[in-house]
Amino acid sequence: MALADAATPDEAAETSAPGELEARLRQRMERLYPLCRSLTGDGVRQTLAILAEDLPLDVRRVPSGSSVFDWTIPPEWSARAAWIADATTGERLVDFAHHTLHLVSYSAPFSGRLDRTELEPHLHSLPDRPEWIPYRTSYYARDWGFCLSQRQRDALGDGPFDVVVDTTLTEGADGGELVYGEVLLPGTEADAGEVLISSHLCHPSLANDNLSGLAVATELARRIGGRRHRLTYRFVFAPGTIGSLTWLAEHPEVRPAHVLVLTGLGGGGPLVYKRTRRGAAPIDRAAEHVVGRRNGRIIDYSPYGYDERQYNALGFDLPAGRLTRTPHGEYPEYHTSADDLGFVRDDELVEAMTAIEEILEVLEGDAAYRNLSPYGEPQLGKRGLYPKMGGRSADDAVMAMLWLMACSDGDTSVLSIADRAGLPFGVLRKAADDLLGAGLLG
Ligand code: ZN
Repeated sequence: MALADAATPDEAAETSAPGELEARLRQRMERLYPLCRSLTGDGVRQTLAILAEDLPLDVRRVPSGSSVFDWTIPPEWSARAAWIADATTGERLVDFAHHTLHLVSYSAPFSGRLDRTELEPHLHSLPDRPEWIPYRTSYYARDWGFCLSQRQRDALGDGPFDVVVDTTLTEGADGGELVYGEVLLPGTEADAGEVLISSHLCHPSLANDNLSGLAVATELARRIGGRRHRLTYRFVFAPGTIGSLTWLAEHPEVRPAHVLVLTGLGGGGPLVYKRTRRGAAPIDRAAEHVVGRRNGRIIDYSPYGYDERQYNALGFDLPAGRLTRTPHGEYPEYHTSADDLGFVRDDELVEAMTAIEEILEVLEGDAAYRNLSPYGEPQLGKRGLYPKMGGRSADDAVMAMLWLMACSDGDTSVLSIADRAGLPFGVLRKAADDLLGAGLLG
């Protein structure tokens, strides 16, 4: 068994000083937060450069204008500056330099003097959340716009305004590309299968919706890279929809056995696992065990959400589950400036990471065994497997052995026995190793 010599997540965790993990996750989010990410452009390149400081990241580039299934890679968008100024005083009333959310993503270049009526169709605010700036995109319709708090909007006055949107949309002979990052960590068993972990990186200064997934996935990749693992791991950091489709187009030969989409891992609420389209894949059973034991929610597949939509699409038919906390659209801070660094707590990220490592522990270590001493209960004591002192009740380790001996018929997996026993997979896995060592399971 390769399992016996694979380090467990607990062993890796023991090498971290207290608080070190929280600090690493937090620092990564703080550095990524100010960058103006979008589907393409320097913000994505800078984000990948930061992730590459910790990972053997392969940055892939695909020219704008390339066809990807039913889509086309958009022009590369660069935003240098954008503001609305009072034309009389020159005072900048709304300025992209103050918050990346102020500029509608993919705004086309514009410069001109406008009165309030002309400006109004280009403004976006949230009347019911007067202090928050909304997040808006205009990827496929050529337009420009500003997002601002309702309070700012109310104070704008009648104008005239000098409006500058200093952006470029580049494609064709001028260049322009989509970039994404990929990390490949080959396992010790070449044919054991592959786990694909995917996080989108196309949102600007939004912490829960994109940075929480990026921070956790990066840390996971770093930790997995530092230990032995049976399965191969592949991490994809790509813009939503067009990025995952580009990865799929470029890797037709890769058929991951398990796909997990990560985002929205902070922001309150319990962990929420969204099942794969087929709904009974090994990743579903592993995640339901782990998230269920943590009092999380399990929700069924729906064709709306993040990149699980692309991986699960019929043409690819990959088993992609998704882990978040409160799903997108179900919390008021979603796609607003209130999804900031304070909205994501360190302990939420750490719990999410622990849960994912437990899910991976199941994928690494689940197996079915056969009881080699099936005629009644074997005497565990004479093999040193039973506590010397009899007590009032059996502890988890003993119960795990009894359950394994009771149910290991060659077909029933350790995970399904763990579910039936109501015990964590890790306890069953350890007990299975002890019984294998004693020659009671085979
Ligand atoms: Zn989003």
